[in-house]
Amino acid sequence: MGEFELIARHFTRPALPDSAVVLGVGDDGALLQPTPGHQLVISTDMLVEGRHFFAGTDPEALGHKALAVNLSDLAAMGARPLGFTLALALPAADDAWLSAFARGLFALADAHACPLVGGDTTRGPLNLCVTVFGEVRPGQVLRRDAARAGDEIWLSGRTGEARLALALRRGEPWASGDVATVADRMDRPTPRLALGQALAATPGVHAALDVSDGLLGDLGHILKASGLGAEVDLASVPIAPALRALAPGHQRDCLLAGGDDYELLFTADATARDAVLAAGRIAGVAVTRIGRLVDTPGLRVVDEQGQAVPVRTQGFDHFGNAS
Ligand code: ADP
Ligand code: MG
Repeated sequence: MGEFELIARHFTRPALPDSAVVLGVGDDGALLQPTPGHQLVISTDMLVEGRHFFAGTDPEALGHKALAVNLSDLAAMGARPLGFTLALALPAADDAWLSAFARGLFALADAHACPLVGGDTTRGPLNLCVTVFGEVRPGQVLRRDAARAGDEIWLSGRTGEARLALALRRGEPWASGDVATVADRMDRPTPRLALGQALAATPGVHAALDVSDGLLGDLGHILKASGLGAEVDLASVPIAPALRALAPGHQRDCLLAGGDDYELLFTADATARDAVLAAGRIAGVAVTRIGRLVDTPGLRVVDEQGQAVPVRTQGFDHFGNAS
């Protein structure tokens, strides 16, 4: 199978009705028509074998995840997806692998009416790079630098299960439980697109990001961009059943520094509480208040007595010491 046959067989599909795509796969570039008056949101994320996933990972899950982590970035901006491109380096043109990969990819793409509009295909060590295009109404976008002192900090869903799945697969000695109960949280993250769009349209919701490198590390990005500090109430951070059996220190590390969660962390004025809860209900995902933003820089995690709890606040950094 040659390069063009591979693209034709696995990555060329009929146009979706009512999509922003004027011209998709097959020309030198794609043509997209955003809704008049809207702004484009563009984001790229790459998955590298041996770095972001184990060699031999189920290709269907990889197809899902390669797109999911990108759609999660659109969700964190409050954007509606318009389409995506896919740059692939493949060690071989393995038809069965490609079919499964495409199945996972297009199942998620179709669920969000987000068509594949182009890409690049080359031989090389397995590497999956997706670029997503989305749109927002000007003024209805969730930026990291838009948080305000006094905002409450909210989290969608739960953190830590993907980190536990990783630990169980690696055989880290502290991890216990059945990997089957948490594997999907690592392999098939759910991009919170409906929630992001609902929040962007909610007055009083100010800043957001998606938690990919650990809750506290990512919260730190909002604090830095907005020039603020934060207090997180440890007892209010939701704990998944699979994490309950862990020793407190490891449980805390999973919750606060785990990574690969793809939940939304956002800040909102206290007057927006009911509207935020309503947005969560509409989107079908729990949203939990876990703390507040303060004028004084710094990040404090406190227990129910208001006492500071020692925690690792550093998120994952590919070129940092922890990697
Ligand atoms: P060019 O030589 O003009 O850069 P290519 O030969 O790389 O084009 O690709 C031919 C067409 O196939 C282009 O429209 C490109 O966007 C598309 N394409 C290539 N690889 C992929 C892929 N993995 N998924 C979707 N479209 C792809
Ligand atoms: Mg070209």
